[in-house]
Amino acid sequence: MNAGDKVKLLYEDKELEGTLMPRPEILEKGITIIKLNNGYNVGLEEKKIKDMKVIEKYAPPKPKETEVKHDKNLPSITIISTGGTISSRIDYRTGGVIADYTAKDFVQMMPDLAKVANLKAKKIMSVMSEDINPSHWQKIAEEIQKELKTAEGVVVTMGTDTLHFATAALSFFLQDLNKPVVVTASQRSIDRGSSDAFMNLFCSVAAAANAKIAEVVTCMHGSENDDYCYLIRGTKVRKMHTSRRDAFRPVNDLPLAKILPDGKIEMLTDNFKEAKTGETKLVTHFEPKTALLYVYPGMDPDIINYYLDNGYKGIVIAATALGHVAVNGDKSLMDVLKKAMDKKIPIVIASQTLYGRTHPFVYSNLRKLSIERNCIFVEDMLPEVAYIKLGWVLGKTNDIDEIKAIMQTNIAGEITDRSFPKTFLA
Ligand code: GLU
Repeated sequence: MNAGDKVKLLYEDKELEGTLMPRPEILEKGITIIKLNNGYNVGLEEKKIKDMKVIEKYAPPKPKETEVKHDKNLPSITIISTGGTISSRIDYRTGGVIADYTAKDFVQMMPDLAKVANLKAKKIMSVMSEDINPSHWQKIAEEIQKELKTAEGVVVTMGTDTLHFATAALSFFLQDLNKPVVVTASQRSIDRGSSDAFMNLFCSVAAAANAKIAEVVTCMHGSENDDYCYLIRGTKVRKMHTSRRDAFRPVNDLPLAKILPDGKIEMLTDNFKEAKTGETKLVTHFEPKTALLYVYPGMDPDIINYYLDNGYKGIVIAATALGHVAVNGDKSLMDVLKKAMDKKIPIVIASQTLYGRTHPFVYSNLRKLSIERNCIFVEDMLPEVAYIKLGWVLGKTNDIDEIKAIMQTNIAGEITDRSFPKTFLA
């Protein structure tokens, strides 16, 4: 017997009919839940069920196949789906989460998409983004590069939690990018009235089809209403709220464009790479022994020793403000940082404040790190982006001078030349 089956049963001396529901993980064993025909769910003690038989097996509803015609006047866009809330739905008959939506389903649910582009849909994995790791980003990059050979742009759907790590990874993995790569997601699942999924997806397809950019960007709600989405650079975007639909914000940068619900694009800056001809190259090496560490007052320096003694090739420290860590007193990191320096293990310094730039010299405590310990300060790069970039750089070189030079050179918009006041809390 499976969840969703229609059953008839004898409970003590009462005859009941209803639908067998999935057991919630937190419910104690020995209870079976039935959705009665009147819509109420009841929990039944299993030992009191005298007889139960299936009267109708559950068959999940099959989506209708709609034929999408090719329009030679429209650009071709590939939607690659990978998982996350945007791909999940509840089966209201059972209350459980059933089969993932695939990109093909998106097209069927939103016929308007077909007015903007000729769509090809590819589901390449089905993972929640908290379970994603560098090998998934490598696979996603490979699929994008393949699709960009024929499509005018690519849209990738994924979970929101670690989406900004993914966009940073794609920004480095896809070198000489020639067309838009638009990454989108939703904070509310597609089957809820307040879902942001449809608008995010529509705006993303419109951006991939018509924004003449060669950048990895996110496209999600720019406000709490359904009035526009923002395109934000993949190395400057960050999830800044657990649940708001406009959780993705640019940090130390401004949005590149507004996409209106009808698909109209308003560019907000000319600071972007333009779409071009040529082929996007894949450079997906990534050193898995790369760490990202958030320091805090009182942190035991041995935590860094752990990494140094266990084969780690590089560490990003999310330091306080301008780039501080303890350098005096009994929790000073100066000794472990000397060990890192002697082992030629790069220590990269970004800031926990996220906004603003680190600075290697303004305080003597900072000079201890930069001059005495050769720590690599990376200006206004976000800690997560520094982690991705360091893993990527370590994938191709272990030469400390080269690592330092690459980490401090802007490659994919991760370091800006100047900080503008209007980028704060934009
Ligand atoms: N935590 C899940 C994920 O990131 C679901 C959240 C979402 O997609 O918004 O994949």
